[in-house]
Amino acid sequence: MKTLWGTPHDISSPVVAKVSRSYLSLWSNPTILASEEPHFGFGHTGLLTSSEVPPSKTEGKPCLTGIPYEELSELRDGDIVKLYPDGRALRIWEEGSHQNVVFVTEKCDCRCIMCPQPPNPDPQPSLWQENKQILSLVNPKTTTICFTGGEPTLELDQLKDLLSICKRRFPDAALSILTNGRRFADFEMTRQLVGIQNKHLLFCVSLDGDTEDVHDQIVGVGGSFGQVIRGLYNLTRFKQLVELRFVIMRQNFKRLPYYAEFVYRNLPFVSHVAFMGLEYTGDAAKNLHTIRIDPTEYAGLLREAVLHLHRRQINVSIYNVPKCLLPRDVWCFAQDSISSWKKSYVDACLPCQEKEHCCGVFTTSIVLSENIKPIGPIGRERSE
Ligand code: SF4
Ligand code: SF4
Repeated sequence: MKTLWGTPHDISSPVVAKVSRSYLSLWSNPTILASEEPHFGFGHTGLLTSSEVPPSKTEGKPCLTGIPYEELSELRDGDIVKLYPDGRALRIWEEGSHQNVVFVTEKCDCRCIMCPQPPNPDPQPSLWQENKQILSLVNPKTTTICFTGGEPTLELDQLKDLLSICKRRFPDAALSILTNGRRFADFEMTRQLVGIQNKHLLFCVSLDGDTEDVHDQIVGVGGSFGQVIRGLYNLTRFKQLVELRFVIMRQNFKRLPYYAEFVYRNLPFVSHVAFMGLEYTGDAAKNLHTIRIDPTEYAGLLREAVLHLHRRQINVSIYNVPKCLLPRDVWCFAQDSISSWKKSYVDACLPCQEKEHCCGVFTTSIVLSENIKPIGPIGRERSE
């Protein structure tokens, strides 16, 4: 999520509001004006401005001054921001983007060695009310909403509530839940969640190995593999759409072809399998030396796994791996998967013919592949 910084005025606790670029607010919900001028406009509950000077009368309304002009100009009508007393403005919703997420909780019952956002061990205030507020501010025409964490199913009542709100407010939106899948081993819990009957709901379940020892070692909790498999069968009993997510790292890359065969034999009902490159941040950065692997090292095995599933008519994709690190015959499976706010390109990408169709690299990763090389005109894999 993009963070803007300014000088805070009258912000004693976090404030969530919808951004407006119009001087006059006609919305009933709280709006915050984004403007170069130090005025609150009419009907707004706060102000984000590039002006260094605060409005002459702040009337106790929250205000951030001195935000760099280029950053302020990126904010659009309908974005949702969260202002903090320390002068941060976090863009928590980007109007029109298909990559918006709702963070249900920071808690998690796994300890994955590659977790990009490690769970906070300290008790945190519930995000339930804030998330309800966010959903009430989101444009009703929104087409995609993703629920993530931490582990969203650990806050079951909140998750059910948020899904119910989505059913009423965004009946046709494509919803997804990113989950480690453990709690779906509980049939009753699964029944309750799917009982809300959202029209388009996808469960994106992490399964990082085809054997108990590989998966459980990665997620740091014994018995997880069995729970996830039971959970996948429970979800399927309720005819739910399921995506499997496999993050490729040193501990599991050799299993790629076996994983594909395992899925075909045991989980052929999944609607999609996503093989994902690593984002070296959070615990993945901390454990860099044990998990790091260059995509060129696993490209051949990944190709084998992808084509194996594809030939068996199981939908399959590659996320977060630049095309120049993949064999050409699996480029069509590589998705533009990195969220726009943390996606970047390196200098070598400048002349690349595939830049427009490439996921790029994570700005958040502490290391990048040394094998990134521009792709030349058709017929040549790489320019020299
Ligand atoms: S990667 Fe997901 S499941 Fe694993 S510890 Fe992090 S939040 Fe939990
Ligand atoms: S050179 Fe850059 S843009 Fe081209 S495929 Fe590689 S990472 Fe993508």
